[in-house]
Amino acid sequence: MIVLGLEQGKQGFPSEKATHALLELLLPKAEDYQHAEERRLFYVALTRARHHVYLIADGNKASSFVRELVNDKYAILTDEFQGHGFQQQVADTPCERCQTGYMVVRKNQYGIFYGCNQYPLCGHTQKGCPKCGGILITEGRSRVCQNRDCEVAEPVCPKCGGGMILRKGKYGQFWGCANYRTNAGFSCSHTEQAVNSGTRVGLPDQDYIT
Ligand SMILES: [Zn+2]
Ligand SMILES: [Zn+2]
Ligand SMILES: [Zn+2]
Repeated sequence: MIVLGLEQGKQGFPSEKATHALLELLLPKAEDYQHAEERRLFYVALTRARHHVYLIADGNKASSFVRELVNDKYAILTDEFQGHGFQQQVADTPCERCQTGYMVVRKNQYGIFYGCNQYPLCGHTQKGCPKCGGILITEGRSRVCQNRDCEVAEPVCPKCGGGMILRKGKYGQFWGCANYRTNAGFSCSHTEQAVNSGTRVGLPDQDYIT
């Protein structure tokens, strides 16, 4: 058995659509449990399966039911399939700028990126992993890809928090801040010979050299 649609939001399950105030008055009484009716339904789905139940959800915006199952350490398997794009965690990736929002996948004409769900209140965006498009989370001096089968760890500039890019200079390769600009208002000129990331050494593939 497979349960789909386990996402946050109005069309998700449980639905986060607010009930009309008038409708609420007509209903017998306030739910003791959040999403009590959907919870009953979900319980039925989970317990009626003959062999296994597969729950399909996006790790970045998994519904509260999925989070509960994972976070409360129920006897569930989260790594039966180690396919491409499998995420390390089922949780919100907090927005590094506002700390209250979380990052969601967005798309524009340039491709896929991550943006704060509090937009337009918070306009923080970040690029996905250059290799697999997964979300990168800062761990020490690196931004580490959260996909299990991806090894990308990009070094972070200690001066401005931007990314570091392996550049070629007269005297060989060096790491330079990605925010280095020759003619722009903001420019960061931080460079270093080698980046010791602490967790993993950030060495992106050769094609990322600009
Ligand atoms: Zn934010
Ligand atoms: Zn990746
Ligand atoms: Zn910098």
